[in-house]
Amino acid sequence: ANPDTDADADPGSLRTPIVAVLGHVDHGKTSLLDKIRGSAVSEGEAGAITQHIGATAVPLDTVSSMAGDLVMADDFDLPGLLFIDTPGHHSFSTLRARGGALADIAVLVVDVNDGFQPQTEEALDILQRTGTPFVVAANKIDTTPGWNPQPDAPVQETYDSQSDRARQMLDENLYEIIGQLSDAGFSADLYWRVQNFQGNIGVVPVSAMTGEGIPDLLAVLMGLSQRYMKTEMEIDLGGPGKGTVLEVKDEKGFGATLDVVLYDGTVTEGDRIVVGGVEGPIVTEVRALLRPRALSEIRTEAEFERLDSVQAASGVKLAAPDLDDAMAGAPVRVVRGRHLEDVIGEVEAELSEIEVDTQEQG
Ligand code: GDP
Repeated sequence: ANPDTDADADPGSLRTPIVAVLGHVDHGKTSLLDKIRGSAVSEGEAGAITQHIGATAVPLDTVSSMAGDLVMADDFDLPGLLFIDTPGHHSFSTLRARGGALADIAVLVVDVNDGFQPQTEEALDILQRTGTPFVVAANKIDTTPGWNPQPDAPVQETYDSQSDRARQMLDENLYEIIGQLSDAGFSADLYWRVQNFQGNIGVVPVSAMTGEGIPDLLAVLMGLSQRYMKTEMEIDLGGPGKGTVLEVKDEKGFGATLDVVLYDGTVTEGDRIVVGGVEGPIVTEVRALLRPRALSEIRTEAEFERLDSVQAASGVKLAAPDLDDAMAGAPVRVVRGRHLEDVIGEVEAELSEIEVDTQEQG
């Protein structure tokens, strides 16, 4: 490689970490995502939060205003957090990138009254197997008997304003979860007691209903990413895009389209791409890059707005010919400046990994 060209590649650009939410059914995954989205919309200036396709981007400034004193924007240089909108470990384990998990970091939601359940154990197995860093959101703290809710407050603040009895009951439930994590082989503690998040799992008490503890959860996700994942977030933002297909969908006027999470580089209208398909790699060309229109905009007949190009990390809908056989979970690669055969080879290699995985799990 030519060192001059490499220096031009601008390796200093940082992308947004991709966050997935996992946990047992009814423990509050959807509510948690809704709460984060809702708070971000009300905190942020119009347009600060962008509803991507299949994902929600919360920029650093919005994280910071939601988290108050817990997140000082000046302490961070990662651009924010990108939450994958489809919760659950099925989507988590089928969404891969370069042989690993698509998500860089995960939130494991556990109902504080219900504790560990079968799907909690399953999720833990998957997180361990994929080596994905995670935090535990001990959810529904507002259901503690006698709880006096402090909407959207940080945990310490709401905790201090509870009766001794309520505090004690919450503590018992939290320590039960910490014990269960330890039985599963994870050293865990309440997040403010964790010094080293690499060897220990932080437990964040939250309520997806009242918003209590959400500032803390965002602060921990931001802090973990900044501290332990910064080098992985350093990408060549202008390089050829790499992504994973969330879903293949027919859209009126566009035919089959791909909902994609882009985790590296840029995709531009007109780019030649290679996509994993049922019968093998599909070579095609991007006709349009689409996002839902912002909620604040007046509804026109067009549901989507068109973008010229999209940078990682983000969720985008991609319209192109010949996508009927494209597969959810498959890789998407922009060819730009590379040999088509090499890119096809990369996509084939990833497709064969997906097949091995499906067989192992099936
Ligand atoms: P999912 O299956 O994990 O996505 O769980 P949902 O988000 O659908 O939540 C299941 C139920 O629990 C719904 O009725 C929610 O309203 C309720 N729920 C979720 N989070 C909370 C919470 O923090 N407090 C209370 N009281 N209820 C919650």
